[in-house]
Amino acid sequence: TELTKDDVRNLVKEYNVKFVRLQFTDIFGVLKNVSIPVEQLDKALNDELMFDGSSIEGFVRIEESDMYLRPDPSTFVVFPWKPREGSVARLICDIYNSDGTPFIGDPRNVLRRAVAEAEAMGYSMNVGPEAEFFLFHVNEEGQPTTITHDRAGYFDMTPVDLGENARRDMVMTLQQMGFEIEASHHEVAPGQHEIDFKYSDALDIADKVVTFKFVVRTIAQRHGLHATFMPKPIFGIAGSGMHLNQSLMKNNSNAFYDPDAPNQLNEDCLHYIGGLIKHIPAITAITNPTINSYKRLVSGYEAPVYIAWSYRNRSPLIRVPAKRGQSTRIELRSPDPSCNPYLALAVCLKAGLDGIKNKIKCPNPCDRNIYELTRQERKELGINTLPDSLYDAMANLAADDIVKEALGPHVLQRFLEAKKIEWDNYRMQVHPWELDLYLTKF
Ligand code: GLU
Ligand code: MG
Ligand code: MG
Repeated sequence: TELTKDDVRNLVKEYNVKFVRLQFTDIFGVLKNVSIPVEQLDKALNDELMFDGSSIEGFVRIEESDMYLRPDPSTFVVFPWKPREGSVARLICDIYNSDGTPFIGDPRNVLRRAVAEAEAMGYSMNVGPEAEFFLFHVNEEGQPTTITHDRAGYFDMTPVDLGENARRDMVMTLQQMGFEIEASHHEVAPGQHEIDFKYSDALDIADKVVTFKFVVRTIAQRHGLHATFMPKPIFGIAGSGMHLNQSLMKNNSNAFYDPDAPNQLNEDCLHYIGGLIKHIPAITAITNPTINSYKRLVSGYEAPVYIAWSYRNRSPLIRVPAKRGQSTRIELRSPDPSCNPYLALAVCLKAGLDGIKNKIKCPNPCDRNIYELTRQERKELGINTLPDSLYDAMANLAADDIVKEALGPHVLQRFLEAKKIEWDNYRMQVHPWELDLYLTKF
């Protein structure tokens, strides 16, 4: 039961909505807002609302800057936190060119294209994300620190756990916004948390991830905390991943499941894994798009380093959880929450479909702890490593036609340009680590 434009008009009256935020993301997954007074809503619903795309990072050049926001009525939600009078709602938008065609640089459109390709082959994608994040204290000036309550707990003897309280509030707020929360728990590192919500189709999940991050940050702030989805905020402890559980549906049933096949996984599933494994070096540029992402992809913290898959243990890149039947799925463990979820799901789906189309053979599963294998043993098993830097990942992206096609020329070019600048800025810095090592040595 998807909401229609009329539903939106009725709900706006029912909830006394005064402002509507029109939301979309830039190619880096950063949420953008255009707030309109409710009187403008009809104009927006009739796709008459124009904005200047040149002000959005990665979108268009100045001379072709007029774009339309097309709100997707099914994404309508009223924010549970209220201003003094009336309420505020949001709609996620697709972006259209002034000639009425979809804008190919819109991340939502990138995912829509991949979803359409899957549909043409008879498939739809389901995704269940597991986003981890840290809750940090803010200092007297209101600036975020990297001090967690768990650690600060030594000093301040408050009986309540600020982090747990904030997380409970996040869960309740998300529920009010239509999320079905399956689990929420403290993660391995001090101050690290995870909230899991129910799987859904790819576009809905990408929308939800964007909303999720925004809600988590907002609620954290209300508790005087700073929530961060930065993949590795602190050296020497676990980083934050965003595992993506993925499955395909065909004719309303799980296309990865076959009760009669070995391990009850059918060919589609094995080929999907084959496609992911083939394209993962390029996919990594999108699923792990920051310099910091690669500080997480190191051994010892349950984050993957090696390109392998397994039924059981957590060290490989892809795990096939034990659940079968309609829950049959694969868990890709490399993505982190700094990625743009629209682009991340688009490149994963595209790679999986390539696996199915071209019957890409997946390697044998590796049920040993890969971290304990020697280089020679890994070589014999044909196990390669994930890119170890953003630079490395970008080079792999530039060489992968399938992943490039998934992004389309507009996003690809803007992405590579921006990431090259990011890399160069980083490369030129003199890091504290270097001073520690070299300042007195030389
Ligand atoms: N925090 C780990 C990571 O960086 C994942 C822990 C888990 O298995 O949930 O991916
Ligand atoms: Mg976790
Ligand atoms: Mg997981």
